[in-house]
Amino acid sequence: MREGLRVCRKCLLRELDEADYFQKLEQYIENLDETVRVDQHTYEARLSVCRTCENQMRGMCRLCGCFVELRAALRVRRCPDLPCRWKAEDN
Ligand code: SF4
Repeated sequence: MREGLRVCRKCLLRELDEADYFQKLEQYIENLDETVRVDQHTYEARLSVCRTCENQMRGMCRLCGCFVELRAALRVRRCPDLPCRWKAEDN
């Protein structure tokens, strides 16, 4: 295998242990490059909105299908609701 090549060994959600899956998602978010990730204050502010949103169910946004913690971590993402509840960061 080539050095640095990322291989998905378990692509189907039904094959994943839920706790293990979410731990990997958290690690993925923590390891995002700071050029693509919002700062911690913005991240928590976005999640506080999602936490009380009627479109959020078990950590997923029903409007876009994303895990809200991943979507909220990315600078280029915005809330998909109309009107938008939190905005993308300017570059
Ligand atoms: S991204 Fe927007 S619509 Fe989706 S759960 Fe968060 S606040 Fe609600």
